[in-house]
Amino acid sequence: MTVEVLVELANRNVDKTFDYAVPFSLENKIQVGIRVLVPFGSQKLEGFVLKIKEANEEVYDEEKLKEIIEVIDEEVILNEELLMLGKKMSEMTLATLISCYQIMLPKALKAEKKTQIGKKIDTYYSLNEKEELSPLKGPQQQIVDLLKIEKKVIKSRLDAISSSSVKTLVKHGLLIEEKQEQYRLKKEYPPLPKYPLTPLQQNVVAAIEKKKDEPTCFLLHGVTGSGKTEVYMEIIEDGLKRDKTSIVLVPEISLTEQMVARFKGRFGNDIAILHSRLSQGEKYDEWRRIARQEVKIVIGARSAIFAPLKNIGVIIIDEEHTTSYKQESTPKYSAIDIAKERCQYHRCPLILGSATPTLESYARAKKGVYELLEMKERINQKPLPKVTIIDLNETNGFQTFSNPLLQKIRERLEKKEQVILLLNRRGYASFVSCRHCGYVEKCPNCDITLTYHKSSQMLRCHYCGYATNKKEKCPKCQEEAMNQLGIGTEKVEEELQKKFPEARILRMDLDTTSRKGAHEKMITAFQNQEYDILLGTQMIAKGLDFKEVTLVGVIQADTSLNIPDFRSSEYTFQLLSQVAGRSGRGEKEGEVLIQTYNPEHYAIQCAKTHDYSSFYEQEMKIRHELDYPPYYYLVSIKILSSDYEMAKTESKKVGDYLKSHLENSLLLGPSMAGVFRVNNVYRFQLIIKYKKEENLHSVLSTLIEHYISNRQVKIDIDFNPFHI
Ligand code: ADP
Ligand code: ZN
Repeated sequence: MTVEVLVELANRNVDKTFDYAVPFSLENKIQVGIRVLVPFGSQKLEGFVLKIKEANEEVYDEEKLKEIIEVIDEEVILNEELLMLGKKMSEMTLATLISCYQIMLPKALKAEKKTQIGKKIDTYYSLNEKEELSPLKGPQQQIVDLLKIEKKVIKSRLDAISSSSVKTLVKHGLLIEEKQEQYRLKKEYPPLPKYPLTPLQQNVVAAIEKKKDEPTCFLLHGVTGSGKTEVYMEIIEDGLKRDKTSIVLVPEISLTEQMVARFKGRFGNDIAILHSRLSQGEKYDEWRRIARQEVKIVIGARSAIFAPLKNIGVIIIDEEHTTSYKQESTPKYSAIDIAKERCQYHRCPLILGSATPTLESYARAKKGVYELLEMKERINQKPLPKVTIIDLNETNGFQTFSNPLLQKIRERLEKKEQVILLLNRRGYASFVSCRHCGYVEKCPNCDITLTYHKSSQMLRCHYCGYATNKKEKCPKCQEEAMNQLGIGTEKVEEELQKKFPEARILRMDLDTTSRKGAHEKMITAFQNQEYDILLGTQMIAKGLDFKEVTLVGVIQADTSLNIPDFRSSEYTFQLLSQVAGRSGRGEKEGEVLIQTYNPEHYAIQCAKTHDYSSFYEQEMKIRHELDYPPYYYLVSIKILSSDYEMAKTESKKVGDYLKSHLENSLLLGPSMAGVFRVNNVYRFQLIIKYKKEENLHSVLSTLIEHYISNRQVKIDIDFNPFHI
């Protein structure tokens, strides 16, 4: 037997496939889609079996063929569909096939041998009916009695009675020992009732069910609180009746206990949950439950799209506009694109849901590429919260809180209702400069100002992690005139506490949620009303459902407007709409206050009136004028080097090459990337804009080839980038 193996080289820039002979003793273990250990030069490397060669097929240099050393997996880890999906992903992103296969599998699978993360095995005991031992001593009798009732009991419980008695009973053959694998995530959830669907929800469900055996892509555009999640669950339930499985993607940050409880409460505990806050071991277990087809529903963040489910009946992507559905490192895949492939394979619908779809998705829906489903009202005709805009230019200049906002917060505190405050910037001050000479503290490795974090008295770079102590004197002019400018959540928290000493304030941002479980604990605590005010960055804007929140305040809507990116208006509109949706979800009416220096901006005006269509129309005009998506597709190409001259020269060459080979595209650059230097690497950028460009993939592949062995210059290609 000869097999074709894709070898895992340490350098993942290249794909290497080789033929290997299979020793007779291993032949019955070999399957396509398992990993094997192979000799490679003087090394032993892992690889994926891609093919078992037919007897008459040509084999590379049969004489010199080396033998496989070992078979790693007992079960297939990449089935036929996933093998094909990896190839597709590699074609779409131009990443290597090996990197695509690796991203599809949990890390623990890879590390199983090296680390201790493996299967968790527990020992159980049951009675051996054939044996009798008498007389039994006290604890022995207790153990036997327990086993008579419960049949099978875990070792730790019997040891608690008497571990020496357990040993004695085993020795005399009275107990049968059994090893059994344990899954780590085992929490049980109470069942939840199912609501009768509203007519609007019923219509939407009916439209989807009509095409349940077609790979149609639906765009479910429904305002916050319109009952989208109930619609998803109905479709999933219908699938279960037909023995179909489902994948639900939700943004990483909204995959909370709240959400898990809602799904498990409805469908029982046979749901796999996948997100990055799980430990490696937990992820590994969840993945194996899926691979063994022990669950029918998978809920997870981006990479759950690769869940090895069979017989998929629907894929749902909630909050489809979320940027985290696009992987930012290689392979730079979009979970939505992957979902489309899988839906084609399984001939099942894809549902993209959002209150604020991306312009691309909405434009596709309007053109009929997607089927548009709208839910314009909240459940029970509950009104969307009233939004008031406060012009920071007029009220009080540079103060953090305007008087109306202070007033509203005070009212809520008195009425014991809860408040959410958003500022999409963490830290204390976003930059520190000298009042005397104008010196600004910057990262030595990156072209970015350092953020001051007061709790640690440190200045930090949010790009590379560089940190340095806060200085009293200006490093340049030696004056004691260092001034902290630009607010972050840490500073807002401090000021807020001064204004409302009695208020219980909870701050939630990257700095306060880095420990495992912290995020979850905070949400639960706020839910239980252990706090009055939840203050945080964008991570508090998504998905959360707190019934007692009646006021949402945005400290500065301009943080995302000022980002130099063609999507900055879209981000702002999405963020404001989303956070506004956190208000008034219970019985009491909700209210929203947005503080801004740009009160007339259409992104802010449209968020005020909850008017997606109007935002869409205005933003489309601008995109059209400037040749941006959805009118054009984009590819971003970065040329990276720690040598400035080299980066510059090579980016010129790349630019010339593209210009002469892509006839139907517009080319921007090369120019310095938004943040030019990160971690001492210089970054030049080119943007390709195209509608149709036959040669694109082959031209870009050639570029990649050219730089593969170049150690000083790297090239980085991103199709449909979210950020440029
Ligand atoms: P969305 O996902 O669109 O934000 P949800 O599905 O979370 O909306 O629904 C918002 C709220 O309305 C939730 O508290 C949910 O339990 C409730 N809800 C949803 N559908 C119904 C229904 N048909 N009848 C009563 N309540 C419902
Ligand atoms: Zn830095």
